[in-house]
Amino acid sequence: MDSPNPEPEVSALPKTRRRAGNRPAEPEPQVYADQIPMERIDLDAVKVLKRLSRHGHTAYLVGGGVRDLLLGHEPKDFDIATSARPNEVRRLFRNCRVIGRRFRLAHILFAGGKIIEVATFRRDPSSVGGREAVNVVDAGDTGDTGDEELPLSRAEHARRTEADVLIRQDNTFGRPHEDAIRRDFTINGLFFDLERQEVIDYVGGLEDLRQRVLRTIGPPDLRFREDPIRILRAIKFSARLDLGIAPEVYDAMVDQREELTRSAPPRVLEEILRLLRGGAAQRSIYLAWDIGVLCLVLPELTAHLEDQAEGAEQLWDRLAALDGLQAEGQLPGDAVLIAALLYGPLREAVEGVRDPGSAFEDFLHDMVERLSLPRRMRDRMRLIFAAQRRLDRGAIGTLRKRDFFDDAAALCAIRCRSEGRPLPSAVQATLEPPAERQRRRRRRARTP
Ligand code: ATP
Ligand code: MG
Repeated sequence: MDSPNPEPEVSALPKTRRRAGNRPAEPEPQVYADQIPMERIDLDAVKVLKRLSRHGHTAYLVGGGVRDLLLGHEPKDFDIATSARPNEVRRLFRNCRVIGRRFRLAHILFAGGKIIEVATFRRDPSSVGGREAVNVVDAGDTGDTGDEELPLSRAEHARRTEADVLIRQDNTFGRPHEDAIRRDFTINGLFFDLERQEVIDYVGGLEDLRQRVLRTIGPPDLRFREDPIRILRAIKFSARLDLGIAPEVYDAMVDQREELTRSAPPRVLEEILRLLRGGAAQRSIYLAWDIGVLCLVLPELTAHLEDQAEGAEQLWDRLAALDGLQAEGQLPGDAVLIAALLYGPLREAVEGVRDPGSAFEDFLHDMVERLSLPRRMRDRMRLIFAAQRRLDRGAIGTLRKRDFFDDAAALCAIRCRSEGRPLPSAVQATLEPPAERQRRRRRRARTP
């Protein structure tokens, strides 16, 4: 007979313990002690965790920060999940601002622009009466009325069929285990309890980290259809953290890749940028190509790759050069990243034409809609692309004074490195920090 309180459909759930009464079963997590040395945790994050728990709230370090600590990497950020509602968090911290309408979060601000993100535990909205469930926010706390459903256009209604599982909002508060299982991959679903120094694992993430394998939480087909951006995230994590992809996850990425065309274009663009930023751009783009995702998000690039063996080689070299720069601590801007990625087909598009400016715009035309490529980024790409010839000749002149110069020089540095030639000395000189430049000038003056 069916249980009156069925478990969510999650294959990776650990054993459950039944509670008396009608309350849904509370899954029992695996708990692991002594996994993360305290001194590796950001002191401001520690302060936030301690204050939340002093005031009676459950609060854990969550997501990418826990994953990276367990892998021995430096976390990019320290995110916290808590039982406290956003407005309760706001009352506890003077330096706090609640942001977002659909996904309300508390940002706690610290010196140097550091932000610790504090989110209330959430659950998958589908588990409380349909995917379009209206949020249950802390209304009444400060007069908030909560999110309301936006009216749907007729076309939008038509698109939302029974089979439509795309998650459009994600703002329903829940309990810790519900928060864990709504996350994307098991390695991202781990919690760290600072007080007890324990990793709390509802999803089998620690074992997957040990085996270095990427698995979705729950059935991969469903999880990718709910949010196809997860396909790009899977590529990013596999490439950046050097993780194998579980075979059924890989198959689902291939099967569901067309769903990516339904994702919001700015999110797709942001994930492409993250693939390029993570220090594993070459591996990421190769994997995206191999899985058949690149041809959906950047068909202009795959056409070039498939037509030109030489162009493909040059792309891999450029991306390796980009990874090299990032390994040395340089982080080129977004326009540089996309220009480096598209440099081959862009050059092909403008070569020998009478009006390179229009050819450049024509090349980007479809991408503008597909990826919501902002005007500012396109303009900057055009300027830094056009500057490459002069930089190659070392003819810098007034270019030095233009605000796009540093980006143009960064693209030049990536190209030179990938082609195994030195950076033109005039460009090299501009890249040195002012102090080093002065020291060099002084040295030169002393040398007879
Ligand atoms: P990074 O190091 O690139 O920041 P991250 O894992 O921290 O990686 P974020 O985008 O910062 O990624 O997201 C923080 C956490 O939120 C993730 O670790 C994951 O638990 C959850 N998350 C993010 N995006 C999704 C998504 N699309 N679906 C489900 N969970 C997600
Ligand atoms: Mg993160």
